[in-house]
Amino acid sequence: MDTDTDTDTDRMQLIAELRRVLPAEHVLDTPAALEPYRSDWYRTHPGNPDVVILPDGTEQVAMAVRLANETYLPIVPRGAGTGLAGGARPIKGGMVISTERMKTIQEIDIPNRRARVQPGIINYDLTQELLPQGYYFAPDPASWKMCSIGGNIANNSGGPHCLKYGVTTNHILALEVVLHDGRVIWTGDGLMDSAGYDLTGLLVGSEGTLGIVTSALVRLTRVSEARHVAMALFPDIVSSSEAVSHIIAAGYIPTSLEVMDAITIKAVNTAYNYGLPDQAGAALIIEVDGVEDGLHDLLGDMITICLQQGAMDVRFAETEAEQDHLWAARKSAFEALRCVYPDYYLVDTVVPRTRLPRSSNVSVP
Ligand SMILES: Cc1cc2nc3c(=O)[nH]c(=O)nc-3n(C[C@H](O)[C@H](O)[C@H](O)COP(=O)(O)OP(=O)(O)OC[C@H]3O[C@@H](n4cnc5c(N)ncnc54)[C@H](O)[C@@H]3O)c2cc1C
Repeated sequence: MDTDTDTDTDRMQLIAELRRVLPAEHVLDTPAALEPYRSDWYRTHPGNPDVVILPDGTEQVAMAVRLANETYLPIVPRGAGTGLAGGARPIKGGMVISTERMKTIQEIDIPNRRARVQPGIINYDLTQELLPQGYYFAPDPASWKMCSIGGNIANNSGGPHCLKYGVTTNHILALEVVLHDGRVIWTGDGLMDSAGYDLTGLLVGSEGTLGIVTSALVRLTRVSEARHVAMALFPDIVSSSEAVSHIIAAGYIPTSLEVMDAITIKAVNTAYNYGLPDQAGAALIIEVDGVEDGLHDLLGDMITICLQQGAMDVRFAETEAEQDHLWAARKSAFEALRCVYPDYYLVDTVVPRTRLPRSSNVSVP
């Protein structure tokens, strides 16, 4: 069994070896340089990494993992550090492997609707690169302007569009992964229904515990011909939740169906001056997309359900700028709540649709 001194010596030798094989700016070990890597957005109980490395490709990741493995040093992969559950916190010290330098789009393959990317690319940046070609990466967590594709994969992240388009796992075709001993594997060739175990499905959502993703083959989604967005205002959260349940029960799958309660609406208005109507107890944002023909009627059907469930008013986001404004307000909710209530504590939670608040005398068809 190692003594503390042996362990310290091992770690110092490891850092010296890392410095020998990697460019100097790819190895951080001073207290000031390590500070930003002590936690992710879950800031309670930060860890103390011994060393942070910033590799620029698969080879450097594999080399660092092999060296850490020799000294039994814990390894914590890190994307952009926006995780809310502490996944990128080095609670036992060790080596943080940050993918922030691995941001290359390695290939865009439009005929096969896929792209190969390094894990550090920011979700929003990938979509901005794809939009001129009429495609985008569909998973859109509210943190999309900050978070990395590697983090999306490890957390199987979702966002407003996941109701219709699914979460990250539905958009990952294959992964290149560095395993615990430094071996590099691809989980598949990206073809649907290939034989064998679904290693890609196993890796997505495994929070960095099974390996480090160093490249990802992602599915591209065609930008729809049209989209319509409306906001229905309700007296309270219960009636807005009932509208959600009735819309789904009637067989509709809108692109998004997002509730904001009165506290959240006031917070985004106070923090960022979004000017959302704040007289309501809750707002339900509904988005539909697809071919233009019939889309307005589809939204109209859902609005009718909202009015039957007690909506007091409905506002339409007529232009693309108005639609983007509404989504920006919704996506800023978490940061706005933190500005207005500094002690606000968010756990990465989901309310299952079966558990939405509901008045006792309402039965959903
Ligand atoms: C304002 C705000 C809004 C948010 N909204 C949403 C939302 O709408 N939906 C949602 O799902 N989440 C949301 N999140 C949580 C978070 O942004 C997402 O989970 C995001 O996918 C994390 O990405 P990241 O690059 O920041 O990952 P990090 O926080 O750096 O890491 C997250 C996890 O992934 C692992 N990891 C990172 N990169 C790799 C890799 N290359 N290989 C293996 N493992 C890796 C880490 O070890 C860690 O366990 C939000 C966070 C914030 C701050």
